[in-house]
Amino acid sequence: MHNPRHIESLQRRGTPLNTRPASPYTLNPPVEADGFSWPSVGTRIRADENEEQESKRVDRISGAVKTILEELGEDVTREGLADTPQRYAKAMLFFTKGYQTNIMDDVIKNAVFEEDHDEMVIVRDIEIYSLCEHHLVPFFGKVHIGYIPNKRVLGLSKLARLAEMYCRRLQVQERLTKQIAMALGDILKPMGVAVVIEATHMCMVSRGIQKSGSATVTSCMLGCFRAHRTREEFLSLLNKRTI
Ligand SMILES: [Zn+2]
Repeated sequence: MHNPRHIESLQRRGTPLNTRPASPYTLNPPVEADGFSWPSVGTRIRADENEEQESKRVDRISGAVKTILEELGEDVTREGLADTPQRYAKAMLFFTKGYQTNIMDDVIKNAVFEEDHDEMVIVRDIEIYSLCEHHLVPFFGKVHIGYIPNKRVLGLSKLARLAEMYCRRLQVQERLTKQIAMALGDILKPMGVAVVIEATHMCMVSRGIQKSGSATVTSCMLGCFRAHRTREEFLSLLNKRTI
């Protein structure tokens, strides 16, 4: 017997399941016409604001942080905490600066080159630090990015910059993995892209849900990396610690 109310509660509105076609496609282009990539609602305001507006934003966040400290039962006037709200506000703006980063101007610039290279390019062990959007605590680890060019390559350091841009947002590891892969696919139109992330989530290890030292692994394979042999080649190259 189906309970209609129960079914309705399962079909939530506005979730990726009913606003997007099947993975890895999304309704929004990975890179929009103005250079932003999956902007949040406040992205353009943040990107356009001047110093005075930014300092007002810091003040508003500081006020909220002060409330949190008070609600925790802390004495916000004691020396150690006096500047914490401001410090935290600035830190949060830094941890989320990826929202206002322009992918073409700030990340890629003039680093797409034409090259007759059609072998796998891999940059592995790129260190990443991001914030889990469910608990606002860090998750961190390593991202490995591979692609097979189609007459266009990207300056190697830009792969790390691309990952950094999406890390500096509120994230879930699965989405982060997919965003890096799809943006690279959109910019280079390569034969295929592979992204693997291994990360430790503080919300899990610090609460004892996950044993410390264990890692969460996610991957996104696009184009020719969806074929078994190419995927295997990529994963075996990742596992080889000396070449
Ligand atoms: Zn979390």
